[in-house]
Amino acid sequence: MFNALVVEKDEESGKTSAGVRKMGLDELPHAEVTVAVDYSTVNYKDGLCIGPGGGLVRKYPHVPGIDFAGTVEASEDDRYKPGDKVVLTGWRVGEAHWGGYAQKARVKADWLVPLPSGLTTRQAMAVGTAGLTAMLAVMALEDHGLKPGHGPVLVTGAAGGVGSVAVALLANLGHEVAAVTGRPETADYLKSLGASQIVPREELTEVTRKPLESELWAGCVDAVAGAMLGRVLKQMKYGSSVAAIGLAGGAAIEGALITPFILRGVNLLGIDSVMQPYENRLRAWERIAADLPMDRLEAMVQPATLGDLPTLGAAILKGQVQGRVVVDVN
Ligand code: NDP
Repeated sequence: MFNALVVEKDEESGKTSAGVRKMGLDELPHAEVTVAVDYSTVNYKDGLCIGPGGGLVRKYPHVPGIDFAGTVEASEDDRYKPGDKVVLTGWRVGEAHWGGYAQKARVKADWLVPLPSGLTTRQAMAVGTAGLTAMLAVMALEDHGLKPGHGPVLVTGAAGGVGSVAVALLANLGHEVAAVTGRPETADYLKSLGASQIVPREELTEVTRKPLESELWAGCVDAVAGAMLGRVLKQMKYGSSVAAIGLAGGAAIEGALITPFILRGVNLLGIDSVMQPYENRLRAWERIAADLPMDRLEAMVQPATLGDLPTLGAAILKGQVQGRVVVDVN
């Protein structure tokens, strides 16, 4: 028997409730690889799946947790054997499939990535889906020409999970980093991660009719969208790129005009971590092991247990979680 955070749905009221309970291996879904989970994390999607579901969960009871790291216990696939350390992010695990909020998980071999050398399972989950996405965003900006010395790189939603890792990565790679936050009390934290400039959220939330603004940013990792992305696009330097990763501020791009694209050659790069091909995942995890300063990663970590998840899930939906939550499921 092992512990799992299980979300149940009351069919009459339609309400969901989450709690830790014991379950047996025979309750896990069938798949090729059984993993003893060490750590998981809390992402925005986890908040939805621990709570009302957000349209992501199809069947109850459900075990959420969109990412985890641990050790292979049993494998029907030649690529993995007992004792191998592995990481999982994406592929709709924790949404359509049972996820990492349990001491055991059973998943497809295709969904796993070997733990990169130099990282522990705890560090891998301090990075998690948020950190992997931040790395994919930075790689996309680099692939489109961003180099240190080009000017300040803006990170929106900076005190959140993706934002924190993006700030630390970019600063460590030698970029000047400007961090947008709606929480002024996180300024010291963001500076400790390497931000040299703090931009108050209110400066970028007004929707304006201007076709363009002064050119300020050499690149941007945007976790917010909404009115903020509409404004940021108009402030991008000629030929620069924005990596769009999230929608913490809304699903539309408010006030966006075509002018930044056709008058300044600005690029809007979409970043998806869920269906990201295996080769690029490996490349991103190797870059994380090489380029993310582990002391700064540790400074972002807030430890948690399975029992803390209902509270943390509600907090992340309100934008109240700082940095990265690492859930020790044992
Ligand atoms: P967090 O909640 O940790 O961070 C989001 C941050 O955005 C908050 O901390 C806050 O930063 C800011 N924010 C929240 N609400 C608003 C608002 N209304 N207006 C402006 N800023 C706001 O989430 P994550 O970092 O884990 O994820 C960020 C986004 O990225 C989410 O939308 C998530 O779904 C998406 N995502 C996408 C992935 C992909 O594959 N593309 C993968 C992972 C996440 P501050 O307090 O500093 O202002």
